Amino acid sequence: MIKEDIDRAASLMLASDYVVGLTGAGISVESGIRPFRGPGGLWTEYGEPPMDGYQRFLADPKRHWEQISRKDGYLGELYKALEGAKPHPAHYALAELEELGVLKYLITQNVDNLHRAAGSKKVAEIHGNFFRMRCIQCNSRYEQEEISLESIPPLCPKCAGIIKTDGVMFGEPIPLDVLEVCQREVGNSDCILSVGTSAFVYPAAGFPKQVKRNGGVLIEIGPYETELTALCDISIRGKAGKVLPQLVDSVKFKL
Ligand SMILES: [Zn+2]
Repeated sequence: MIKEDIDRAASLMLASDYVVGLTGAGISVESGIRPFRGPGGLWTEYGEPPMDGYQRFLADPKRHWEQISRKDGYLGELYKALEGAKPHPAHYALAELEELGVLKYLITQNVDNLHRAAGSKKVAEIHGNFFRMRCIQCNSRYEQEEISLESIPPLCPKCAGIIKTDGVMFGEPIPLDVLEVCQREVGNSDCILSVGTSAFVYPAAGFPKQVKRNGGVLIEIGPYETELTALCDISIRGKAGKVLPQLVDSVKFKL
């Protein structure tokens, strides 16, 4: 039964003009990254970070950087989990779909860099990337090794604005440039492949609904039913690491 759904999903993707992927925490969990909420969640153990994290950062950026260098509490656990994580077959499958020309763009809510590590190139990280840094004034992104932490907070080499980690904090607006890319790609899309996301956190949760409203196709892969399931043309229950490689095989067979 799942095999038939996977074949149908492959056909629908190949019949579409512009397939966009959307991924969420579910795909990271399969790489051993602890979820934030729920049983075994980082926040369940350490408490939720303050909802005004960004405002606190703006009030005292130096303190934020001191916390990061100490790597204590949940932040330390998060670093440990992210630093040890490696892409799994679902990440590689999405990179291969891009290489085949079937997937035009990938929007991820994950901050773990695993899509890039797997080889995906057209990626919009809507909640940022935990391993990169960003100037809050000009939005320039930097790799960690490009920015010295000898004096904190570090300042942007281009505009001398304050630099923070790229991961979007509570209370922080999603950087406009990323949001614009997402809106452009979702606007172009006539098929969304949603993987491992509960479709709960906006704005990403609105993207599949928008494509559906525009007459597009919605395919969902994940272990649980979500708010999207009822809207889906095809909804496949299973682990992304198992289902996506089969989907790639089916796409390649039909190409
Ligand atoms: Zn700057």
